[in-house]
Amino acid sequence: ELILAFESSCDETSVAVIEDGHVILSNIIATQIKSHQRFGGVVPEVASRHHVEQITVCTQAALEEAEVTYADLTAVAVTYGPGLVGALLIGVTAAKAIAYAHHLPLIPVNHMAGHIYAARFVKPLEYPLLALLVSGGHTELVYMPAAGEFEIIGDTRDDAAGEAYDKIGRVLGVQYPAGKEIDRLAHLGQDTFKFPRAMLKEDNLDFSFSGLKSAFINTVHHADQIGETLNHEDLAASFQASVVEVLTTKTMYAARQLNVRQLVVAGGVAANQGLREGLATAIKASGMDLDLIMPPLRLCGDNGAMIGAAAHIELQKQQFSDLSLNAVPGLDFPYGA
Ligand code: ATP
Ligand code: MG
Ligand code: FE
Repeated sequence: ELILAFESSCDETSVAVIEDGHVILSNIIATQIKSHQRFGGVVPEVASRHHVEQITVCTQAALEEAEVTYADLTAVAVTYGPGLVGALLIGVTAAKAIAYAHHLPLIPVNHMAGHIYAARFVKPLEYPLLALLVSGGHTELVYMPAAGEFEIIGDTRDDAAGEAYDKIGRVLGVQYPAGKEIDRLAHLGQDTFKFPRAMLKEDNLDFSFSGLKSAFINTVHHADQIGETLNHEDLAASFQASVVEVLTTKTMYAARQLNVRQLVVAGGVAANQGLREGLATAIKASGMDLDLIMPPLRLCGDNGAMIGAAAHIELQKQQFSDLSLNAVPGLDFPYGA
């Protein structure tokens, strides 16, 4: 079963060809980050224009690299939300055109389900499982009793983890998206600032990162005012130590309660080395029989392959859409729109 999958929800145009939901034949990713950097964030109009320019180029490249033609395909899949409406529409329109022209079923995919199913490229998923979904717009603990079933058991009350990285990165003069560079700096510094760890003692699985962000920004501004220069590596290390401790503690707390065998880490922030190490260490220390599944770095950020992996679950259930499919920028996760 071959799925041609489109992802265009934000600032990556990506097209992939996926076999049986877990083999990547191609995964072309055209990132627009350079065009948005001078604005300090993603500019929707600029994103749409880039997607228009890239979508057919990426589609051709994906088919060529996979060495398949339209006639070989089983279905076409596309992210229809959440994301920027103009950006989503480019992928949705391309997928619909191909589905129509080649008489292929059309599979709509929720971007967040896509992030989680990137783990399928590592190994087969076993249910029930727990997923820590950490990205630019989401920070959630997701319980999956079975394939295609999602329950949010923990959520951020304010900023997403990736958003917090990007915001404190700006204060340090790090270009958007700042996560990767802060992660690098963090490994060169020490946790000397001891920023707050939010809601660690509370008996729930929710997160909050705005207090940490404010503490960070206030510390830097106060130092500026008195003409003192703080060590950026220690600032980054201290910020990351707080984020990793909170994410790890809550995730382990949930895993213990739920008695799951697999823990999937998903989303752009899943690329964070401190988080990957922190979770591995915590699992080892706990003595729990918990299998940590972390997608390779290239599959943590937005990509078409993960959309193909998610679509394959829908294909098994014959969950298709007709050609009236529209982009839903504020699409809920889980599905109940
Ligand atoms: P969403 O998936 O919630 O709709 P998004 O698609 O914009 O949002 P992703 O592409 O999944 O988000 O992830 C991008 C985010 O990941 C950015 O905020 C970026 O700073 C962060 N990020 C990337 N690499 C790292 C890293 N090594 N450490 C921390 N954060 C990182
Ligand atoms: Mg992106
Ligand atoms: Fe994403």
